[in-house]
Amino acid sequence: MILIVDDNQNNIYSLKKLLESKDFQVDTAESGEQALVKALKNNYALIILDVQMPGMDGFEVAESFAGYSKTKDIPIIFLSAVNTEKQFITRGYESGGIDYVTKPIDPEILLLKVKTFYNLQENNIAMRRSQQSLELEVQGRREAQVTMRSEIDHFHLMLEALPQIAFTLDADGAVTFVNSKWYEYSVSEKVFPVAHQDDHSILMEFERCRKNKRALQLEIRIKNIKTGEFRYHLLRMSPVFDGKSIKNWVGTFTDIDDQKKVEKEKDEFLSIASHELKTPLTSIKAYMQLLERKLRTNEENAEVNYVSKALSQVEKLNSLITDLLDVSKIDNGKLKINKKRGNLENVINNAIDTIIQTHDDKVKISRHGFIPDIEIPFDEIRIEQVLINFLTNAIKYSPENNQVIVTTFVDETQVRVSVTDFGIGIPDFKQDAVFKKFYRVEESSLQFQGMGIGLYICSEIIKQHDGTIGLSSVVEEGSTFYFTLPLN
Ligand code: ADP
Repeated sequence: MILIVDDNQNNIYSLKKLLESKDFQVDTAESGEQALVKALKNNYALIILDVQMPGMDGFEVAESFAGYSKTKDIPIIFLSAVNTEKQFITRGYESGGIDYVTKPIDPEILLLKVKTFYNLQENNIAMRRSQQSLELEVQGRREAQVTMRSEIDHFHLMLEALPQIAFTLDADGAVTFVNSKWYEYSVSEKVFPVAHQDDHSILMEFERCRKNKRALQLEIRIKNIKTGEFRYHLLRMSPVFDGKSIKNWVGTFTDIDDQKKVEKEKDEFLSIASHELKTPLTSIKAYMQLLERKLRTNEENAEVNYVSKALSQVEKLNSLITDLLDVSKIDNGKLKINKKRGNLENVINNAIDTIIQTHDDKVKISRHGFIPDIEIPFDEIRIEQVLINFLTNAIKYSPENNQVIVTTFVDETQVRVSVTDFGIGIPDFKQDAVFKKFYRVEESSLQFQGMGIGLYICSEIIKQHDGTIGLSSVVEEGSTFYFTLPLN
């Protein structure tokens, strides 16, 4: 909008008409005072100012405009009576655009100047606006940076307070932060702690995980700088994602050395105890078998019944101790597998027969699937042990339903054997854990007896056959445990 300032109404009228005919928006003021009030309130792109006015003359008005930030940059075209006045025009008004037109006004010249100033001012305003928005953005970014910095500081403070060694890495794996615990195991921020020569290489394992974009979890011994002692730590490194790519990594070493020592002592105790128990138990079993045979010679002997029951309890005790011995063999890497080519179907049938003989008539085991008439390399005794374990569990954990199905499936590379029951089932999130040593599902552990080692031994036996083991299960509906063995 353009402001015309003139004390003469006629002049205002004719100028207004002229400008409006060229589509300019126009406002008017009849004195310098009024012009100042209006200019402070509204936004004008240009002011056309008569020099000779009663009260404040044009120069004084221009000087006042120069004193306010809002008005100081508005361009002014003075209307002056004579050419000589032009030397006063720049007085006190240096920053804004300025020009003059002498009276009587030549409309064409005036319009030309108005257009030039008007466009200039519009451009100026647009530039100022974009500068303002740029400044706002810069300020916003600066504030965001400050917030981020304080969040990082907070995060580092938290890592510092941890009892573990904690560190962060950038996307390429370079160390960006370590807490003070780090220096108990490393001489420099840039160097990872030294791992025991018999353990995995931290950097190689990390590189593998970085390529697969997966977290790393590793039990590893690292060397304490002061004592020189290697202590077991659980190393965890988790990627922090930004969309699909990794932004950085957060890692911890947790000292598990004491826990490891206790575990080792417990394993040693189990190993010794089960060995020592096994010898007298084998003698007891042999003497009881002799006694049973002797008593059986006389049909009417009631004691034979008692001895049979005692023998079956001795048998249970024997199998518990055998399992414990197996666990200690696994722990010491001494569980031996004797693979020979043999018929798997015979082993499956033997296992089913054993279960039927040792359980009451209510148990029903049906055989489904393709019966594999092939010979494969496997340890018959150990695979039978796995099957008996699956079948015993299927019956034990199905108190309301005695139906069990054994299914086999063969393809070009492997044979798969599964045992399905319709029992209590296992919750989703506990299914992986059932193959761990001494793990028992909490919900059922009180109702059913057991030590939680059967499936651990099974998984080790199958692992040594280069096979796979697993399960699918639905709570209250039942479970299917399976294993696969390679054909060659
Ligand atoms: P145990 O039966 O002696 O406890 P296992 O190692 O054989 O030990 O099994 C581990 C746990 O897995 C069991 O304690 C039980 O909670 C669960 N489990 C195993 N088999 C089944 C099954 N067929 N149905 C439901 N839960 C099962």
